[in-house]
Amino acid sequence: MKCKVCKAEAVVALPSHNTAFCPDCYDRFFMKQVSEGIRKRKLLEADDKVLVALSGGKDSLGLMYALAELGYNVTGLHIDLGIFDSSKKARSVVEDFCADKGYPLKVVELEKEGTPMPLIKKHINRPICSVCGKFKRHYFNKVALEDGYTALATGHNLDDEVARLFANTLRWDQAYLSDQGPLLPAENGFAKKVKPLYRVSEFETANFSFLKGIPYHHLPCPYSSGASFTGHKMIWRNQEIRSPGSKRAFYGGFLERGQPAFAAIHHKKKEYEVVPCTKCGCPTSVGICGVCRIREQLDEALAAEAR
Ligand code: SF4
Ligand code: ZN
Repeated sequence: MKCKVCKAEAVVALPSHNTAFCPDCYDRFFMKQVSEGIRKRKLLEADDKVLVALSGGKDSLGLMYALAELGYNVTGLHIDLGIFDSSKKARSVVEDFCADKGYPLKVVELEKEGTPMPLIKKHINRPICSVCGKFKRHYFNKVALEDGYTALATGHNLDDEVARLFANTLRWDQAYLSDQGPLLPAENGFAKKVKPLYRVSEFETANFSFLKGIPYHHLPCPYSSGASFTGHKMIWRNQEIRSPGSKRAFYGGFLERGQPAFAAIHHKKKEYEVVPCTKCGCPTSVGICGVCRIREQLDEALAAEAR
């Protein structure tokens, strides 16, 4: 198999683009997908101060690398969830990666905040992954706003976005369909959120990270049920094999035509007001934000246990 650009030996075949690349041409292809995606949807300005959420997976580390290569002012943010060896491994991969590349890094340690996930799981009767997601979003936004970052970037790729869109479509969830996309502008106490990998698939990102020698953490979280969107991703993987390019067409069509239509309908229906949490000041639609409510429940449970 030859590279479609330079005719050297190809190492990556991409049926969705009907092409194949050698390592150098693949690098150019990938970086162009990212930079074009940013330009097309106006995700970032040249002077944005970008906080990149780093989980330690190949997507987040690949994103950090790509944004730094494109010349953006990037700082990593890792949330150490305190989940046994899985969190230790994730943190060490992130720290080594940033030290090796010379990228600035911030770490929020939930153990130090008194809310490591295992403690919450033990005492609070709620699905741990939804609590975990809530805490991660809370700290991403808090650090971004408090430390003066103008954008928060996450490593969601095309497969993540398609799976989410598919789930939202199955429920015809107008609120989520009106908001979904690679750009959420800053508003109401929320930092601007961007997903610069929205045009590249999981496979394409994995290849990029592999060819760049980017290490990543692959010790699964013990709380992972594997359920989140996995079934939808399988459906789309099969669809993509049968009809290469389906994912790009589905998501691209939504961004062009679907999302604006849903945004127009839903905009009229927005009834709730976003106010600062009375405890921590972070934005919420009720008096006390979700994270502070969980903290309160945890404190009550720990006090009851101590009695
Ligand atoms: Fe958090 Fe759940 Fe992911 Fe574990 S699997 S890191 S608990 S969201
Ligand atoms: Zn709060």
